[in-house]
Amino acid sequence: MGKKQTHTFGFELSSLRGLSGVYVFRNANGNIEYVGTCKDIDDTKENWKSRMQSHHSYSGKKLTDEVTFMDVFIPDQSINNRGLLILEYLLIWYLRPPKNLPDGLGTHWRYFYWSWSEETVKAVARDKYDSIITTSVEEYLRSFRIKRIHRAYESDGSFTKYGSIREVGFIDESCLNNSVCTCFHCIARERHNVIFNDD
Ligand SMILES: [Zn+2]
Repeated sequence: MGKKQTHTFGFELSSLRGLSGVYVFRNANGNIEYVGTCKDIDDTKENWKSRMQSHHSYSGKKLTDEVTFMDVFIPDQSINNRGLLILEYLLIWYLRPPKNLPDGLGTHWRYFYWSWSEETVKAVARDKYDSIITTSVEEYLRSFRIKRIHRAYESDGSFTKYGSIREVGFIDESCLNNSVCTCFHCIARERHNVIFNDD
């Protein structure tokens, strides 16, 4: 039997074990590339390792080499499937990540149309999907705790397969709340504003 790999395409995922969440793939500049959901169930059904493997192997590959880290929104774990999907779709509505939008998907993703205002999105989330957001979407997103997992690399640039396991806690990214701030939420807000002012 071979040595068991600690990393999956550079990600050491043990801090996410047993946790369901919504992940955001980001590149070295911090740009947002893809949003997805994982319910960590067990080793045979869906789990973080299998999610990452599926993103790497299938033809519409999302886990490309540009992805250098991911931010994982960890909701209260009593959240149900629907609640997790609402968070995922809300992030996709808010950010329109380029890798979530294959050619031809021009108007919406699942529950939310691009053309809708924030108030409409929240009303639909509430009336159709029982998901109540009482603040702005930005404030709602700020209410979640985030784990940030960086990909690890060997000195030759290949992804680490065998390395140390370490617990990754929740990030506490300070926000300057101005135009030069590079925290997740300010980058997300800037992207959102560019997208929506383009329409
Ligand atoms: Zn900020």
